[in-house]
Amino acid sequence: MDLLDTLTAKGLRGDVPTREEALAVLATTDDELLDVVAAAGKVRRRWFGRRVKLNYLVNLKSGLCPEDCSYCSQRLGSKAEILKYTWLKPDQAADAARAGVAGGAKRVCLVASGRGPTDRDIDRVTDTMAAIKEADPEVEICVCLGLLSDNQAERLKAAGADAYNHNLNTSESTYGTITKTHTYADRVDTVQKAHGAGLSACSGLIAGMGESDEDLVDVVFALRELGSDSVPVNFLIPFEGTPLAKEWNLTPQRCLRILAMVRFVNPDTEVRIAGGREVHLRTLQPLGLHIANSIFLGDYLTSEGQAGQADLDMIKDAGFEVEGAGEATLPRHRADVAAAAQAGGCGTAASACGSGGGCGPCGGHSHAAPAEQAAPVEAAGENAEAAAAEPTEGNEPAEGNDELRSDLVKVRRRGAGTELAPNA
Ligand code: SF4
Repeated sequence: MDLLDTLTAKGLRGDVPTREEALAVLATTDDELLDVVAAAGKVRRRWFGRRVKLNYLVNLKSGLCPEDCSYCSQRLGSKAEILKYTWLKPDQAADAARAGVAGGAKRVCLVASGRGPTDRDIDRVTDTMAAIKEADPEVEICVCLGLLSDNQAERLKAAGADAYNHNLNTSESTYGTITKTHTYADRVDTVQKAHGAGLSACSGLIAGMGESDEDLVDVVFALRELGSDSVPVNFLIPFEGTPLAKEWNLTPQRCLRILAMVRFVNPDTEVRIAGGREVHLRTLQPLGLHIANSIFLGDYLTSEGQAGQADLDMIKDAGFEVEGAGEATLPRHRADVAAAAQAGGCGTAASACGSGGGCGPCGGHSHAAPAEQAAPVEAAGENAEAAAAEPTEGNEPAEGNDELRSDLVKVRRRGAGTELAPNA
């Protein structure tokens, strides 16, 4: 197929496809699915070999959010019967993190619900990071606290954070239909603040909220231009008690096509299968590993994933290997960009990169080096937790699955915030 040959050749060079080519990936048929996976797999192996990075979520503060993100089980007015608790103490969070690291995770993602942190919250997270790094100085830490104010990213960086997660979630043109309490521009601003402070930028999307193919392609190109080092791809988990509890717009095949499109547009970027992996990919999860190079281990923020051991078994059975703490995630040329950002060169320039300005190497379009490894810098994941989103007015889902599988959605009842052991 000409399309896949073209996309493979571009991906192997680190070049980005055209928008039309990205749309064409989403329009491929089920008969072409394994060819699509194979093509994306070549690109994935070129830049990331057979390594799978494991990330572990610790929900520091759950529920009770004043924001109205309609996909989220923690939103204002959510009736989802999730765990609700305020800030974990540093030692509680460190205990949860330790379980994930013992299970094979090289990155811990510290997440708290809310519009954004207060300065006191930054202090809390600073203490938490210190407790985690005291137990394991090598662990990477990504922080996800919502919208950042001036100087907060710098404080997190100085306190030892490696990355900051803030997802764009969907296209700029449809953002207002899923959230009213903040804007797409607010989210872009926070990603830029994090990047500008020298934190690795982790920013991704949620699929299955009723968006069109064009919306998906728009947000994925926006993430590329923003210089995201890691792109978590969430598949909407339609929680009961949230606006889209009945929205099931994804099939396993559709999820694989979306992952492949994200990979082709971000050939040398960490692509992570995030929330909804078990719910929507189901028995096709191993095929996702041929496209993405990163997953979450165990449970998500407010829902339960499959057993951590099942994740490890799946990786091994599919012929992949868990990325070790001493191995770099990103290809070397991407790590060099990150290092330059940390040195203050390009780092303030997520916006410059996004505008296509003179900051060429910054995330945008890399042509680079062979499939070698990178430096120990890169990005992490966020709300691997989509709940439910309102349908996007005027945009019918490109592909539907009428089957409601609410039986697959399991609210998290163990790990952080409970007396029960975490799943890792
Ligand atoms: S995504 Fe974050 S900001 Fe939005 S409702 Fe959920 S916890 Fe609040």
